Amino acid sequence: MSYTIADRQLIKKLNTNSILKVVLEKGTISRADIAKILNLTPATVSSNINNLIQDGIVHEVGIGTSSGGRKPVMIELNENGKLFIGVDIHKDGVEAAIVNLAGKILARSERQFSDHGNKFEDDVVTCIDDVRELLPDLKLDGIGIGMHGIVDTNQNISVYAPAMSRRNIALKDYIEKKESLPVFIDNDANAMAIGESWFGQAKGVRNYIFLNVGRGIGSGIVINGELFHGNRYAAGEIGHIRVVESGMRCVCGKYGCLDTVATEYSIIKTIINSIHTGVSSSITELSKGDLSTIDLNMLKEAAQLGDKCVLEALDKMGRYIGVAVSYAINMMNPGMIVFGGSMSVLGEYIIESIRSTAINLSLEECADGVFIVISSLRDNAGVVGAASLGMQNLFKE
Ligand SMILES: [Zn+2]
Repeated sequence: MSYTIADRQLIKKLNTNSILKVVLEKGTISRADIAKILNLTPATVSSNINNLIQDGIVHEVGIGTSSGGRKPVMIELNENGKLFIGVDIHKDGVEAAIVNLAGKILARSERQFSDHGNKFEDDVVTCIDDVRELLPDLKLDGIGIGMHGIVDTNQNISVYAPAMSRRNIALKDYIEKKESLPVFIDNDANAMAIGESWFGQAKGVRNYIFLNVGRGIGSGIVINGELFHGNRYAAGEIGHIRVVESGMRCVCGKYGCLDTVATEYSIIKTIINSIHTGVSSSITELSKGDLSTIDLNMLKEAAQLGDKCVLEALDKMGRYIGVAVSYAINMMNPGMIVFGGSMSVLGEYIIESIRSTAINLSLEECADGVFIVISSLRDNAGVVGAASLGMQNLFKE
């Protein structure tokens, strides 16, 4: 078999990414053990490791123990060898964080949109500037952006941002000009899915779906280790699967979508409605009677107190998500479903009903062996995932 230059470059990128992920997972490891784990030749591993050392991404940290023969030189990740800003742009605001190669957050900033997001690009730039000012001496390697809505990753434009009703924004070009750093952009759930494979539950999983459940609900689909964007970059819109017959009108204009019953807003609305109809809940006391102050932390506190009203609402939400997940399982036969996004802070109260509903409704053969888990990145998934868009592009050339 003969390889073209493009083939060789792709293989090299995949090998380097795989090697880096093994170093990240094992902490300290020898070249020989990396070769064994990845089934690569010692020469391939050595040449890739030498490049990673040159780039300051890993370093040698001394001599390990030998199982016979020469003692191996151990390799370790140089955590701050490359630094990226991860930017998560959601429906009503933006978060930015400086993230290192180990997925650790060194600084972060947050900003609500002014002017209903009509000029959200300026808020994004201000948020990035704020986080850069916190650690002004750091050398940064790039910016990754997870943007809600539909993102064309070929032309690098935000095709449609439903929360602001904005279309075709050349976000990458705009931010690159303002910040003088390379910018990588994708949909927010896609970015989170990539982050989960670098730093979370999906390490080593080839086929999985990341559910981003927060102010809206979307998903990132990974097939054979690569993101699946779809024909027009609109794959993964799980929030717009109909789960309620004759349901409420959704932001998309259709009725009964998952998005109308399984987001931060909808759960708070459900609980307020229950309280208004006379259901007793510790939320009344926790909010000191002002139900407009309900937030996820308050819901968590109530859930920990065993509040029936809140627990039932979360259970019901989980069942709706489970219905949509069962469709995804039947279509894709994934190895894992990761539940993430801001609602994952309440994950332990939702995951069981997602799991049981999804398994019950899907074909046994399709659901066999699927892990349905809560993201270990929790509410950092947005910024860490966005930063990992930069990391996976480290070896593009
Ligand atoms: Zn919809």
